[in-house]
Amino acid sequence: MKKFAIAIHGGAESIKHSELDQKTEKLYRQGLADALKDGYDVLEKGGSALDAVEAAVNSMERNPVFNAGRGASLTQRGENEFDAAIMDGNTLRVGAVGGVRYVQHPITLAKVILQKCDHCLLVGTGAEEYALANNLPLKGPEYFVTPEKDEAWREKQHKRLEVKKTMPGSMSDTVGAVALDINGNLAAATSTGGLTDQLKGRVGDTPIIGGGTFAANKVCAVSCTGEGEAIMRGVLAHEVYAMMKYAGNSLHAATDKAIELHADKLKGDRGILSMDAAGKAAFGFNTGFMKRGYWAADEEPFVALWESEKGKKAVKQKEMEK
Ligand code: ASP
Repeated sequence: MKKFAIAIHGGAESIKHSELDQKTEKLYRQGLADALKDGYDVLEKGGSALDAVEAAVNSMERNPVFNAGRGASLTQRGENEFDAAIMDGNTLRVGAVGGVRYVQHPITLAKVILQKCDHCLLVGTGAEEYALANNLPLKGPEYFVTPEKDEAWREKQHKRLEVKKTMPGSMSDTVGAVALDINGNLAAATSTGGLTDQLKGRVGDTPIIGGGTFAANKVCAVSCTGEGEAIMRGVLAHEVYAMMKYAGNSLHAATDKAIELHADKLKGDRGILSMDAAGKAAFGFNTGFMKRGYWAADEEPFVALWESEKGKKAVKQKEMEK
């Protein structure tokens, strides 16, 4: 059987066990398993890595427990603004969107840009009009804004008025996927609602190619999550690639090093999902918690949340390296 594999993340966050209720934990695990399956099914039928990462990300964009598409974080204005990017490691074509609203699947819009547009990155109303022109489904705020997110926003508003100053942006999550298909092609996709309470118009690392998303055949595919300002300043997705390509680092070494890179100057949560040309995956994070999953051809899928579950991943990877 030809090698293929998919790995996904649903964001890295600094939270403690006591801050996550069992119901939500279950929803995360189920959501990761569903997204993995959607991506794996594409690869199993001989589909491309590009279609597989789109399918996995679409699944998480539909699922309101993740910070992408429906259920995503709100800006200070109480509105959704989405960023997304997808990259084909074979052709190095990319498609990315920043600050879009109303588009049901931002990653699909990014893929249409990759396939049809001469530009790489469209933002705001231009991106929305491009979605309209390509008959992509649009939705109103009532679809995207879940009661939980609306309540969280109201609470923030209340506090803001109390302290009469702007609250700084706080962490959220992001979703992403990387895949290797039977033809040896790699792809990466990332989609997010950005940081909770971010300024209107703020764009994070996700659609910045080389910042939050990167893929190049024969080396790696990378999707990041965490403090977007630090990730884009560190150009972390491309650093993983560069450390592998030019310094001969293994996937795991490069991913771990990127988690530490410039850490004295670039503070904040970081999560990096990467996959090499053999379909091995690495999950680096400095948060203790990263929603993640992996499924390779002819193997059992696994999903994990806490750092303490990392062992499972190590066993899998050892088995794969044999
Ligand atoms: N990286 C995303 C951003 O800064 C947020 C996240 O991953 O939680 O927009």
